[in-house]
Amino acid sequence: MKTSSRSLRIVNAALPLREERALFTLSAEDGVWTAVERQEGATVSSPETTPLDGWSGEMPPAGNSLRLDAGGLAVLPAFVDAHMHLDKAFSLPKVGNVTGTLEEAVRSYAAAVPNFSKDELKARMMRAALQAISYGSTTLRTHLDFHVRHGREVAMRTIEAALEVKEALAPYATIQLFPMLPYFDLTEEALDTAAEALRMGVTGLGGAPHLSPEPEPDIDRVFGLAERYGCPIDLHADESDNPSVRTAAYIARKTLDYGWSGRVTAGHLCSLAAMADEDAQPIIALLAEAGVGAVTLPGANLYLQGRHDRFPVRRGVTRVKELLAAGVQLAAASDNIHDPFHPFGRGDLLLIGLVTAYAAHMGSPADIREALRMITTYPAAVVGVRGGIEPGLDADFVVLDAATPEELLTMLPERRWVWRRGRCLRAPAPRAEWSGCALRAYWADACERVSFREERG
Ligand SMILES: [Zn+2]
Repeated sequence: MKTSSRSLRIVNAALPLREERALFTLSAEDGVWTAVERQEGATVSSPETTPLDGWSGEMPPAGNSLRLDAGGLAVLPAFVDAHMHLDKAFSLPKVGNVTGTLEEAVRSYAAAVPNFSKDELKARMMRAALQAISYGSTTLRTHLDFHVRHGREVAMRTIEAALEVKEALAPYATIQLFPMLPYFDLTEEALDTAAEALRMGVTGLGGAPHLSPEPEPDIDRVFGLAERYGCPIDLHADESDNPSVRTAAYIARKTLDYGWSGRVTAGHLCSLAAMADEDAQPIIALLAEAGVGAVTLPGANLYLQGRHDRFPVRRGVTRVKELLAAGVQLAAASDNIHDPFHPFGRGDLLLIGLVTAYAAHMGSPADIREALRMITTYPAAVVGVRGGIEPGLDADFVVLDAATPEELLTMLPERRWVWRRGRCLRAPAPRAEWSGCALRAYWADACERVSFREERG
């Protein structure tokens, strides 16, 4: 969407993805970054500059420029949620999971699918997508259930609902749709229905071939159909504690055969964490060589994996640091939200960044920057959008009420300004003061004395 001629300038912005703790001036024209300039110290606000904190979020009329003073707040590229299940989100009140296992979640949800109306599916997707956008994600990739065995109509209900949500939210977010091909009985009829979904406008093909009794021929069929329609592939891969489950290696070899670097994504990769180093390393090397994008889903994996272990209990999260070190593009994403697969989550990638940092032992300044890249620039590369704060890229960004990378993951600030193509989608109310309670007298003093900002110097 073109935001008619409009210039934006933000002074005193902190850029937590950069190692240098300086302040920057950011400029954008018509929703595209034009300059990122390092400042020598803080810029003194001029009368035509509005403090961001307290600004209403209202954009000036076309042709006018907007100058904002970020006051040292953190500016990140907009979040890219590379792996969601919008259609399942918020279904927990209807579909429970007593054992908390992946097996029960898959079984119960599949049985419930025929009862969901298109309206209900659409309402849940809308809520989940809007919530994700409100936290700062402007690109969402969602997998979609595609239960052809319940009949074409049931499978297409989800596809139609998703296409309508994608279109309705197009001014605010890019939504990519990946129907999950059945992992059993992948018949010609199922492939024809998937082809129809592609013609209707879904983005690519998904699936969970490690669940199939014969994963390799199923992966072959998915690649064959993707070739026919020139679409990307995003597979759930090896969401299992069983170290002998290794479809990732086959997916990587197929990607090399087809020369599809950057076009194939493998999510979960849990079994990599269950196998010995000498078994995992060649698979990681193969993923890197093939240019397969990877996604870790630490919330759902910590919750679902290890359910059949007695202590010591495996935690299921893939080898995050090893994948990063090998040069694999690795995203951290939401996966399921408040459904039988994962009762928690809220579509907030900053929270997922924190869970990733916990799960993968990432706490040094360099690690925290990596965790933040795993929810911004790395997933952008995985899903094929250009994300970052650099001249020439879309001005999709989020300003957060925090000054440092450490403060971002410590405070998970609720107050965020979410921007898409140079237009503000969400501005928070002015900073709430403590009022009317016994601790009020201490609050301002405590914040002033113990601040995350002192370190900047
Ligand atoms: Zn998933």
